[in-house]
Amino acid sequence: MAETDDSFECGSCGETVPFNEARRTKTMGGLDPTTWQTLCCPSCGSRLKTVFVGK
Ligand SMILES: [Zn+2]
Repeated sequence: MAETDDSFECGSCGETVPFNEARRTKTMGGLDPTTWQTLCCPSCGSRLKTVFVGK
């Protein structure tokens, strides 16, 4: 599953954020940070999506 070309619409500020411009943070809730990352809006910091980055 390739997600690298995706973009995400921020539900808080309405901005469309390309995958490679989203801020990546550790996930909440104890998910492995080498496997899951949370993408956040670079403008307002809202969480966009949690993505699987492992294999
Ligand atoms: Zn935003």
